[in-house]
Amino acid sequence: MSIIIQKLRILKRVDFAAKFDYNFLMDYDIVYSARKTIAIKVSNGKVTVCAPLDGKRGKYDRLIHELLEQKRGWIEKKVREQTEHIRSLLPGLIDFSKFYLNGSEATIELIGGKHIIVHEQTIEMPRSCTESRELFCAALKMAYRAHAAKMLKPELDAIAERIGVRYTAFGVSDASTRWGCCNDRGRILLSWRLIILRKELREYVMIHELCHRKHLDHSPRFWSTVEQFCPNYRQLLAELNTYVFLNNYLKVIPTQ
Ligand SMILES: [Zn+2]
Repeated sequence: MSIIIQKLRILKRVDFAAKFDYNFLMDYDIVYSARKTIAIKVSNGKVTVCAPLDGKRGKYDRLIHELLEQKRGWIEKKVREQTEHIRSLLPGLIDFSKFYLNGSEATIELIGGKHIIVHEQTIEMPRSCTESRELFCAALKMAYRAHAAKMLKPELDAIAERIGVRYTAFGVSDASTRWGCCNDRGRILLSWRLIILRKELREYVMIHELCHRKHLDHSPRFWSTVEQFCPNYRQLLAELNTYVFLNNYLKVIPTQ
């Protein structure tokens, strides 16, 4: 598996997050979208301000600043709690000093050349990707996504065979709200972030989505089918919920 560096520049250009400072002693990203109000979100130990896309980018700066000051206590408490939680589960993830694949630590090796190659527990990355944090994170995300497409499909196929169902299409998603989904036409999407987690947790998500090929709801019949193929699903689901912060991992590529 290899990815050509050229693509990274495209990914950089579509990243719409900007960062402002204002001597505010807190790092935060601003994400502009089609919305009417300003909202502050704290997830993955990071603060994100969601602002309306209309008008110039500076239009809401003052309001945002005031809102952040107003909510400073709440924000700091949330950041502290979430950061501690993430550090206890996946140390080094937030500050990008450690990386994970398959539930355990992965090593990043800087190499010459232009291709990113993901091995079982090693990610080979061109040295040029470390020019900026933005470029590095974009490269890392691309590597994860491409590797996920390759790694998740055979796992899904094996489980589909075990359950005795078929799906019509498969894709890797960047969704920030769910690990996977299955529509009524049998198209299954799985979050690329699943490859960060250990196999058992990934398998639960796959079993869940594939059982939707039998029952397209969350009825007691659906859950008993899940239980049939994954007897400890309750325990796995509870564990998976402790990793919900991962759905924001590399969602917005951090700026320098
Ligand atoms: Zn479901």
